[in-house]
Amino acid sequence: MSRAEELAANLAAVQARIATAATAAGRDPAEVGLVVVTKYFPASDVRLLAGLGVAEVGENRHQEAEAKAAECADLGLRWHFIGGLQSNKAAAVAGYADVVESVDRPKLIAPLDRGAAARGAVVDVLVQVSLDPPGRDQRSGVEPAGLLDLAAAVEEADHLRLAGLMAVAPLGEDPAAAFARLADLRAELLADHPGATTLSAGMSGDLEQAVAVGATHVRIGSAILGSRPRVQ
Ligand SMILES: *Cc1c(COP(=O)(O)O)cnc(C)c1O
Repeated sequence: MSRAEELAANLAAVQARIATAATAAGRDPAEVGLVVVTKYFPASDVRLLAGLGVAEVGENRHQEAEAKAAECADLGLRWHFIGGLQSNKAAAVAGYADVVESVDRPKLIAPLDRGAAARGAVVDVLVQVSLDPPGRDQRSGVEPAGLLDLAAAVEEADHLRLAGLMAVAPLGEDPAAAFARLADLRAELLADHPGATTLSAGMSGDLEQAVAVGATHVRIGSAILGSRPRVQ
């Protein structure tokens, strides 16, 4: 099998999983966007995926993302930054990312806003919220108690648009239980910010549980591209 055939088969299988999960939840499969997470894989894979109709890709490391976005600039893709963000890199990330999904603290807002302004763009921002039980080691994300303050601060920035929420299910817990808490947090956010409708949740292992609670975007890497090198 060629790489193109392999990606096509994996992509079709993931799309079928999304459709089945959406239908089971009484949702239209078209409501669930697919962000293919291409981290650790070469720009040639991004190009093949674009040829298969993929429109949105996700990356989690700034240098790799910046280089790939430049190499694939002709493809008209929507680039999502989904990784831990250092404040000294934030302006540069806003220089190519269309969506920054991993905003977890106020300190990122000013440099993101500056980077978006320099590019003459408005960048969509998702606030990443932690679903870890209190007292557990953070996998990352703002604590739920700080969500509304952070969202309000994003809303104030001229070149950022508060688009919604992102979360990762904690390790060692049933993702359905974690995503149920996420759905409650989303309802709280929407009460204050009715335009913040995006819910990015669900990965290769738990997309069904995320679609069941209303995810509008799933972020799928290994189920489409294969397993990543272990050095992460
Ligand atoms: C790597 C990554 C994904 C994709 O994970 P898979 O299990 O490979 O589908 C999704 N979201 C985030 C934040 C990631 O870092």
